[in-house]
Amino acid sequence: MNLIFLGAPGSGKGTQAEVLEREKGLAKLSTGDMLRAAVDAGTELGKKAKSYMEAGDLVPDQLIIDLIADRISNPDCQHGFILDGFPRTLPQAEALDKMLEERNLNIDHVILISVRDELLVERVAGRYSCAKCGSGYHDSFKKPKIEGICDHCGSSEFSRRKDDNRETVANRLVNYHAQTSPLIEYYSSTGKLTDIDGEQDIKVVTQKIESLVS
Ligand code: AMP
Repeated sequence: MNLIFLGAPGSGKGTQAEVLEREKGLAKLSTGDMLRAAVDAGTELGKKAKSYMEAGDLVPDQLIIDLIADRISNPDCQHGFILDGFPRTLPQAEALDKMLEERNLNIDHVILISVRDELLVERVAGRYSCAKCGSGYHDSFKKPKIEGICDHCGSSEFSRRKDDNRETVANRLVNYHAQTSPLIEYYSSTGKLTDIDGEQDIKVVTQKIESLVS
């Protein structure tokens, strides 16, 4: 099964994609994670992408298309994959269609997770994670049980994404509405899009997605 998760930053698509990755053994392809790894490793791609990411702008289409075209052919995608954060523009969606056709693959569902902008800013600006195991936390909504200590691995080191500040989030949302939201119409017309209310409890959102894909 091949899935696309569509939604603004902070809508919870990464969190939900992680659950499906674990439960269904699908490969999660997050372009944001791949780009952050490239920036950390100082690769050519990372050097090109860094300034766009820090400003909350989209990285040029061709860099992302090449990244996914390469990744989608990996053996771990044979049992299916979840695209988390790709496509984000119409040219990316069209390039994906071509890539899939060339490989005789199909998308089964496009899952849109909808959340109002006001809530997205609160969610994104307050989130951080354990620097050691990656568990996610939030300043208001999900604090560690013991202050300053990760619930899962006991580490006391945490990190925040550079682009998870109010100013950059505002720009990421502008870009989402201008460049990514046209994909809602694009995929609606294929009959594969399901819109899920992402303001519900995380577990309720998970149940809805699970019943859709089961
Ligand atoms: P994310 O982790 O999905 O929020 O992505 C973080 C940043 O990576 C975005 O703000 C963009 O700068 C860049 N990025 C991730 N995916 C894409 C994409 N499909 N197209 C263009 N830029 C992307």
